[in-house]
Amino acid sequence: MQRKMFVGGNWKMNTTLESACELTRGLAGQLRGVTGVEVAVYPPCPFLLSVGAILRERAVGIRLGAQNLWEKPAGAYTGEISAEMILDCGATSVLIGHSERRHIIGESDELINRKVHRALEAGLEVVLCVGETLEQREAGETDAVNERQVQLGLREVSEQSLDQVVIAYEPVWAIGTGRSATAEDAQNAHERIRGVLSGLYNGAASGSMRVIYGGSVKPTNAAELFACPDIDGGLIGGASLDASDFVKIVRACIEKEPAS
Ligand code: PGA
Repeated sequence: MQRKMFVGGNWKMNTTLESACELTRGLAGQLRGVTGVEVAVYPPCPFLLSVGAILRERAVGIRLGAQNLWEKPAGAYTGEISAEMILDCGATSVLIGHSERRHIIGESDELINRKVHRALEAGLEVVLCVGETLEQREAGETDAVNERQVQLGLREVSEQSLDQVVIAYEPVWAIGTGRSATAEDAQNAHERIRGVLSGLYNGAASGSMRVIYGGSVKPTNAAELFACPDIDGGLIGGASLDASDFVKIVRACIEKEPAS
């Protein structure tokens, strides 16, 4: 099953309007002519329109996404952002269930599942993030946690919608710590996640879903991680704030042999 590699840049709550635009121009310049890998950036919501305008003008095919959305289409939800607003800004993708939202904001698997349904209904691509904490890993619960988060996150998501879903495996202890999972550990977790997906859906549908890795991916470790058969790209935090580092990570994808 050939899966197109995917690299997302999660800018989190970083950049100013000026630096976000500068980063976008840098990426657009350096990624011109790069094919064979899908690239998306997830700037802070207030900058979506400006970043989107630069991406459209430069026409390099970098996609635009939001870092979060609310589970309802509209209404009295002060401070929240709807799927329709995200689409209106020209974005086509959204991160859901990022560990910072699970563990800092306190989002539950049930809320995450409702957000997944809302995003899919509205026609957004979903990048559903899962991953264990250090405590869970040390207790030997890595696979059980990933299985639960994938199952609950995708609860009642139909097979027809799967082509709009990407799973991001992001071990919490590796995010922003400089301590990436080894390629072997990441591959094992991805293989298990792929097993969970094929238990939930038919082989063709689950086999074509991308499972990407996130957690301290850098230009120095990207190629090794991306070479693993079940790793279909990455979700990049810190290193996505530097255009040349992010571009090196994107380029590391191109080297990969297509999965069979
Ligand atoms: P990091 O973040 O690359 O800074 O570890 C990854 C993420 O949170 O998506």
